[in-house]
Amino acid sequence: MKHLLLTKRKDDTQTVVPVGPVRFGQEFVVIAGPCSVESEEQTISTAQAVKARGAKMLRGGVFKPRTSPYAFQGLGLKGLKILAKAREETGLPIVTEVLDTRDVSWVAEYADMLQIGARNMQNFSLLKEVGKSGRPALLKRGMHSTIEEWLSAAEYILAEGNPNVVLCERGIRTFETYTRNTLDLNAVPAAKELTHLPVITDPSHGCGRISLIPAMCLASVAAGADGLIIEVHCDPEKALSDKDQALTPEIFGSMMSRISTVRACIEALP
Ligand code: PEP
Ligand code: MN
Repeated sequence: MKHLLLTKRKDDTQTVVPVGPVRFGQEFVVIAGPCSVESEEQTISTAQAVKARGAKMLRGGVFKPRTSPYAFQGLGLKGLKILAKAREETGLPIVTEVLDTRDVSWVAEYADMLQIGARNMQNFSLLKEVGKSGRPALLKRGMHSTIEEWLSAAEYILAEGNPNVVLCERGIRTFETYTRNTLDLNAVPAAKELTHLPVITDPSHGCGRISLIPAMCLASVAAGADGLIIEVHCDPEKALSDKDQALTPEIFGSMMSRISTVRACIEALP
């Protein structure tokens, strides 16, 4: 991987990515919230519920990359204003996906962190624009991308002078159909061995099934992840996107206490 100049691990140094008061790479960070911002009530009640259960950041999409053009596409600016209000009420920094280069600069005025989704991991213009935005980036791995391609995508952002990139393994396409994707836990220690950037996982998109998400969150912690991003909805049955993978606040809460137990075990290892 000789073209990885800025992302490559050279020594034991771990890059710390600050997002508001949050420090990826220095503390374990759980980002939680709905797949999509649907209304002020839904976003704020979910934000309060995840905060009360230990989440340190709020997620919520306002531009949704949907397979069908007729599916809910997101609230755009109205959604960003709702996210900003949720941040004001809870103090949680917000991360949201940006799909289009034309939106990067104005979305960056609202969001604390910009998400580059799996479908855009090799949208090189978008990577460059996010690199120039001055905002930290959450870079999802493309569903058909190798680890090397993912790290090369991170290199594009760093090459624009933005050192604040958090890598996110969100599952890759395999022959398996029972799960939505296959969460590639190999990628966690691999990316940590190859780069100095924090690495988190997204078990929600990684398996797409509520019943499997808690186990894969615990497994991510054991594999050395620096954090998690998890979809939670205050009323999952009514979710406008990804309802099959939306945890209730109650399931999220019981999972968070099990995560603390696994973290304590891992931290106690020699
Ligand atoms: C999301 O986070 O809601 C999303 C669309 O993620 P991905 O790009 O990983 O599919
Ligand atoms: Mn989603």
